Amino acid sequence: MITRRNLLAGLGAAALAPAIAAPALAKGKGAARVVVVGGGFGGATAAKYIKVRAPEINVTLIEPSPRFYTCPFSNLYLAGLRDFETIGHGYDELKKVYGVKVVRDFAQEVDPAAKTVKLKSGEKLSYDKLVLSPGIDFNWNGLQGYDEAASLLAPHSWKAGDQTRLLRKQLEALDDGGVFILVAPADPYRCPPGPYERAGLIASYLKAKKPKSKILILDSKDAFSKQGLFLAGWKQEYGDLIEWVPLSKDGKVVKVDAKSLTVETEFGTTHKAGVLNVIPPQKAGLIAERAGVTNKAGWVPIKPETFESQQVADIHVVGDATIAAPMPKSGFCANAQGKVAAAAIVASLQGRTTPNPSWVNTCYSLIGPEYGITVAGVYKVADGKIISVDGSGGVSPAAAAPDFRKREALYANAWYQAITNDTWGTALRA
Ligand SMILES: Cc1cc2nc3c(=O)[nH]c(=O)nc-3n(C[C@H](O)[C@H](O)[C@H](O)COP(=O)(O)OP(=O)(O)OC[C@H]3O[C@@H](n4cnc5c(N)ncnc54)[C@H](O)[C@@H]3O)c2cc1C
Repeated sequence: MITRRNLLAGLGAAALAPAIAAPALAKGKGAARVVVVGGGFGGATAAKYIKVRAPEINVTLIEPSPRFYTCPFSNLYLAGLRDFETIGHGYDELKKVYGVKVVRDFAQEVDPAAKTVKLKSGEKLSYDKLVLSPGIDFNWNGLQGYDEAASLLAPHSWKAGDQTRLLRKQLEALDDGGVFILVAPADPYRCPPGPYERAGLIASYLKAKKPKSKILILDSKDAFSKQGLFLAGWKQEYGDLIEWVPLSKDGKVVKVDAKSLTVETEFGTTHKAGVLNVIPPQKAGLIAERAGVTNKAGWVPIKPETFESQQVADIHVVGDATIAAPMPKSGFCANAQGKVAAAAIVASLQGRTTPNPSWVNTCYSLIGPEYGITVAGVYKVADGKIISVDGSGGVSPAAAAPDFRKREALYANAWYQAITNDTWGTALRA
């Protein structure tokens, strides 16, 4: 049974063997070189924790943006409940406190035989170990009519940044009485409860500012994470403001016309939106495909003990790009996997045995600013697979007093503070 106390204590922390003390790197070859691609939840954590465990390793983090804006809590921004800059995080502490070399560039190619990464600038970096944490890319036109150009009219806002600001602007311009349509994808995709948290928080904004408006969720699935809690919470907080249409009730959108803001479903129903938010089908970030670590479906199979690619040696992949089910594609998991990869890489470079990992994940969702719900899971490796630990995890109770929901919302805030500190800051050490 997980308690709140031990969950928070274990935040983001894969339960690993104690940190390895003495450096014993590739003798006679100089310091080992680790290149990390992607400064989001998985990559920034891996870079930091390699340096925490073995400061003598040269760690270079490649990330094109000077500041990372998190998807977690971006729904609060969309609802007008948070300033955009409060979800932004820089790389100064990784550089100054931990000695990670941060290169503002984009990784274009990986040559696994030569062990090099070519950057957009033309520079080539050699590595002993490579970590990829590029997050997701979209299967443009995997949903007919939805490509990059369409996303400028009907934003996905599934990577935080310009898209998030665009969706907020559109919501501000929505007429009272207008319809916000959210198109939710089939599994697997980044952040299973994310679309439903978004609907709840946007409902809180509409209820306060544009009460005649409606939210229509057109879903390609019949079930989703924390479904019972979401449906009950929406009803209680917003009455009929949110309508969820599952796959079996013709919820699957098959065609998007971003110019007219209309979508067509599998059985030919057309819906017209005032604001159209399309979350398209996804795959691993492109660099994973370029490195040759993806499967036919576009995701990365990994060895669970180390998060090393099953296909290419010395390339570790963490975060949303991987197939790590039953672990969900969450920032919490990306952070925990980043630590596992860091520990495995340091152990390997020091000629030691890889520690045996286990993980926890908690996904907080807000139905309203003072109404939080959670799902938690505990995972370990058995027979070469990641499995859920029997009898662990679970969701918030179905029947709970308002004060309980309010406390879960407070915990959500504390979680955000803690995990962003752990990933880009100085809060927790191995
Ligand atoms: C609306 C929403 C709400 C969410 N809420 C939560 C939540 O409450 N809790 C939670 O745990 N998770 C949440 N998530 C999920 C979370 O955002 C992701 O699981 C997490 O960001 C995955 O981390 P990652 O490192 O795999 O990818 P990211 O964090 O996306 O990082 C990828 C980084 O790689 C960089 N990159 C990509 N390609 C290259 C390249 N070729 N060269 C250099 N850099 C590159 C990108 O610029 C980016 O900075 C939410 C997601 C969404 C969309």
